[in-house]
Amino acid sequence: MARKLSLHPKKKEWDQTFQMMSWWKADEVRAAQVMVVGAGALGNEVLKNLALMNVGRILIVDFDRIEYHNLSRSVLFRESDCEANRLKADVAAERIREINPNVKVQTIQGDIMLDVGLGVFRRMQAVIGCLDNRLARMYINRHCYKVGRTWIDGGIENLAGQISVYTPDVSCYECTLSQGDWVNINAKLGCPDVARRNSSQGRVPTTPISSSIIAAMQVQEALKVIHGNHEQSLAGQRFYYEGMSNFIMQFKLAPLQEDCLAHFPYDPIIEASTLSADRSVGETLAWLNAYFEVEDAAIELDHEVVLEVATRKTEQVYEMVVAKPHLTDKRLRELAVDPGETVVFTKEVNVLDASFPAPDRKLRELGIPPLHILRVRAGDDIHFVELTGDEAFLNYT
Ligand SMILES: [Zn+2]
Repeated sequence: MARKLSLHPKKKEWDQTFQMMSWWKADEVRAAQVMVVGAGALGNEVLKNLALMNVGRILIVDFDRIEYHNLSRSVLFRESDCEANRLKADVAAERIREINPNVKVQTIQGDIMLDVGLGVFRRMQAVIGCLDNRLARMYINRHCYKVGRTWIDGGIENLAGQISVYTPDVSCYECTLSQGDWVNINAKLGCPDVARRNSSQGRVPTTPISSSIIAAMQVQEALKVIHGNHEQSLAGQRFYYEGMSNFIMQFKLAPLQEDCLAHFPYDPIIEASTLSADRSVGETLAWLNAYFEVEDAAIELDHEVVLEVATRKTEQVYEMVVAKPHLTDKRLRELAVDPGETVVFTKEVNVLDASFPAPDRKLRELGIPPLHILRVRAGDDIHFVELTGDEAFLNYT
């Protein structure tokens, strides 16, 4: 018997095989937003898996360029990318769009501690950490805790690796840190130059094998979060794998500590669609004063804004308005007249209020990224106000 030809052949769907799994929620995966911090060895594998699994919107945060030694552990990078001195985030985005044209990708060539607003974290279903330094992990942890998001940390060394899942009120990266870890973090915190602050001391030997194992598990955990499967997630636990001896261990993370500074949820969050990082300090304060019906609204910053520096020996004083994390060593060296001269910060603030000397400066110029959530003091109260006017900042393509 001749087969009847269908006039409307069923459209091929990327995830039709996954749909055969009873637990798979195709629409939720397609609609999900996942942030990947770090596009190195782990990041490459995580991004490849997210694209293959059809995760709809992927945000890549990385500020590095591709170097030759990355190639042996990075499935998405080619020698030509390295010769062209291309950015890891750009190349990774291009390649995963090639792998699965259904996924939309956005990149932020920036630093996780400065350039990604809290509102961006808030819009993610999950955040995946693919980094090799504690300070950046601490920031991701604090940001995620503030907006109630789970983050999935991965780390690799030699043939070993580990994955930990941190969910607010269940587990917290900072609560797991030892005193030695804090010494390392504080040393880096004191270093204003972002590039130096992010560099890891001595390169850690890793292989594409451990990164593909750990990254695969990270994505699997992210899919559980997207599916709302909290019971079977690794939240509150760490999984450790050592490939040489096939040693595997899973253990509970340290319990939450009461005095931990990371446990600071921003709740409730006020969405201010008229505010954005492109508004000036003066305009923003005026809006906040009107909204909260006060005259003394103040924006509390997590970093300092430097207003004046001086050279120690020649006692030259320079006025400036620069977010301290933007003040690179190079810029400070340019100010020092004599070689060997040191520059000291003589005036800095960490609050933007009516007394701020440069009310015309845009928030963005003072280290406040788009879609950030401001911590605002009005009278005796603290409020959390999102720069929702930056909503279009997330525009995956
Ligand atoms: Zn904690």
